[in-house]
Amino acid sequence: MTENCLFCKIVKGEIPCTKIYEDEEMISFLDISPCVKGHALVVPKQHYENIYDVSDDVLSKIAVVAKKIALKQKKVLNCNGGNVFFNVNQCGGQLVPHIHMHVVPRYNNDQKIFKFNIHDKYEESEMKTFGSKLKIN
Ligand code: 5GP
Ligand code: ZN
Repeated sequence: MTENCLFCKIVKGEIPCTKIYEDEEMISFLDISPCVKGHALVVPKQHYENIYDVSDDVLSKIAVVAKKIALKQKKVLNCNGGNVFFNVNQCGGQLVPHIHMHVVPRYNNDQKIFKFNIHDKYEESEMKTFGSKLKIN
């Protein structure tokens, strides 16, 4: 699994990247095909596929590094905000099966669109049904 993983290869230095952060457990590098210039990926060095299998500890550390990157983008790129997200599995747009958080700088009036084209609509009482199904006690 991990031998053929693109991001494991980047972690090991077998494939080059433009690294902007590194600590014992995490790296962050620029996305090769940025949604917006400065778009970074936060990647744990240990291989996990996505949010379904990542440990709570590693997940928390990804978020902490993403915050550092977002603040740095705000400071040096003067962006007005951003999009910080995971894609999960093929249906969710995940192309690289090694968990990574996208940190994308955004600017007022940057003409980019980050939204679902169509929103679903609940039928009457359906929202309650979904709510009770998904409630975590
Ligand atoms: P995903 O679709 O899996 O959430 O995102 C994968 C991201 O990795 C994409 O935004 C893509 O542009 C980026 N990417 C794919 N291959 C490479 C690569 O070799 N180097 C870098 N830096 N980014 C890559
Ligand atoms: Zn990997």
